[in-house]
Amino acid sequence: MPFGHDMVHSLATAVDLVNTSPSTGGEDTLTDLRELGDFVARWEVSGIGELDAADLAQVRALREAFHKVFTAPDQPTAVIRLNTLLSGTRITPRLAEHDGHPLHVHYFAPDASLHEHLAADIGVALAHLLVEDEWERLRTCSAPDCDHVFVDESRNRSRVYCDSRTCGNRMHVAAYRARRRA
Ligand SMILES: [Zn+2]
Ligand SMILES: [Zn+2]
Repeated sequence: MPFGHDMVHSLATAVDLVNTSPSTGGEDTLTDLRELGDFVARWEVSGIGELDAADLAQVRALREAFHKVFTAPDQPTAVIRLNTLLSGTRITPRLAEHDGHPLHVHYFAPDASLHEHLAADIGVALAHLLVEDEWERLRTCSAPDCDHVFVDESRNRSRVYCDSRTCGNRMHVAAYRARRRA
């Protein structure tokens, strides 16, 4: 993956956030403040206060906006969708060093709410991905009953399943059975 650690982290956070949505074929796993708190802990989202129902509603809306960038039919559409998202986001770059992480750039404003934090940091990461002409790495799983998104980090951009152990393995087993029946 030709990207730095911060960008990889932001993209992985985006993937996890989008995949909590039922629009990706599974159950909704971001339905209450406990699940929102788990998400924040999982991705070590820093500098946010106590979470409330407004945070939950805003983050649930944001995941759909990110999903639309992942599922854009072409790059120009992805650019338009991301620009729309960025135009509504306050962005304040500043250097930070915390929790044992080396010096890195934060893009969210100092008083940002959770969704503003995620929109800024993930939005900028996606912007860099588009600038680097790597938009095609934003993918949706090819398994017929799974629409989870993922970032294809393979050198030759050949990954087709969200998870090789689950969907990839499942599809290989199905193909093997089909061959044996033939
Ligand atoms: Zn940080
Ligand atoms: Zn899948």
